[in-house]
Amino acid sequence: MEAGKYWNPVIETLPREKLQQLQLAKFKKIFSWTYERSKFHHKLYSDAGIEPGDIRTFNDIRKVPKVEKSMMRTIQGKDPYPYGDMLCVPLEKVTEYHQTSGTTGQPVYQPDTWQDWEWFAEAWAYILYAQGYRDYDRVFLPFGYNIFIAFWGAHYGAEKLGCEVIPGGVLNTEARILEMQELRATAFMATPTYVLGMADVAKRKLGIDPAKELQIKRITVAGEPGGSIPATKKRMEEGWGAKVYDHIGATEIGAWGYECIYQCGLHVNEILFLVEIEDIDSGELITEPGRRGRMVVTALDRIAQPCIRFDSKDIIEWSPDECGCGRTFRLIKGGVTGRTDDIIKVKGVLLAPTLIEEVVRDIPELSDEYEVLVTKKGDLDDIRLKVELIPGQQNSIETIRTRLIDQLRIKTNLGYNLEFHEYGTLPRYDIKAKRFKDLRPKE
Ligand SMILES: [Zn+2]
Repeated sequence: MEAGKYWNPVIETLPREKLQQLQLAKFKKIFSWTYERSKFHHKLYSDAGIEPGDIRTFNDIRKVPKVEKSMMRTIQGKDPYPYGDMLCVPLEKVTEYHQTSGTTGQPVYQPDTWQDWEWFAEAWAYILYAQGYRDYDRVFLPFGYNIFIAFWGAHYGAEKLGCEVIPGGVLNTEARILEMQELRATAFMATPTYVLGMADVAKRKLGIDPAKELQIKRITVAGEPGGSIPATKKRMEEGWGAKVYDHIGATEIGAWGYECIYQCGLHVNEILFLVEIEDIDSGELITEPGRRGRMVVTALDRIAQPCIRFDSKDIIEWSPDECGCGRTFRLIKGGVTGRTDDIIKVKGVLLAPTLIEEVVRDIPELSDEYEVLVTKKGDLDDIRLKVELIPGQQNSIETIRTRLIDQLRIKTNLGYNLEFHEYGTLPRYDIKAKRFKDLRPKE
């Protein structure tokens, strides 16, 4: 049965002033919890001359030192093994183990207690309810159930809502599609790369048009920026005949941001998380819309390995809009538009790889795949962009070339060497794609 609009009608419509009071109260609580229990945090805060009594107002939160992933790596691997000095509960209270993928270095271990795990499911319940999931949905989860957190929280969140959950773990893509068809699944979750990849496999290998022959109505995407890139989102929605909603989270943070059915940006779940945006250079707090900065985030209720003022390296900005759904949770505009780690300098120009995705996916004659290689030729940077024409478009190659060059110039301010490849020849990825390769020698 269709219930109300909100998972928690009181919390999701709280006046902002009330919401901030609650955030401050919760921040104080998690701060003293951590100060008293984590040797790592105790030292970090003592060295900065700050203790729980010093947090009185919202502005005082800004005095609390930030934590970076690299700091977490250095304390792990020690007793209580393997979590080290950050663990705030007795080791026997830990019930869940996950780890980060380690794409940017040594993986970080993530312990959670059962209370933390219920909190994770609750965060996902907010997300899924806002995206129209209800107890009559049959939700298929086509991900490898393993040490990576991926959609584990979504599994429990969907069950909390009363959905029927199908764990599509150790199956190949074809088997997953056939299972979704046979069981008439109404929703699923995956990375944008896999959502597009599944549609492609369904059509090419199974002769199934997902938009017509499956009953998927909603798809939640995460793990890559595609859900907030309009051209990629359009491809996914058309391919599946379904609505696609973006979600952002991370192993060491939790499930903090989500699109609702109005699709006008990502709400920050401000009852469970405190998100601050800082100017990338000056570190100044950004509260107004229209200025991009780096996200500093606090999980207000996670207790085993707390996440307090974590420098996520994600680049976001506040949206000037209010969402039609009536939630008072603030919106961020256009999702995570990049990471401070991702933005690179090519030919002296700052380039966010998502901009290239936006251009390529907006040209319907090109396939979903592309590859960008940055190399050095002599003293000069060279950017090679490989794209695939979809079958039957050979005659329009020159028009497409001109359009690509123009759009890339407008969006990124850079020139590219273009290569057109035959359909199906560029690498395909199952989960997260590595389409952008910086092959220049490290200086
Ligand atoms: Zn909304």
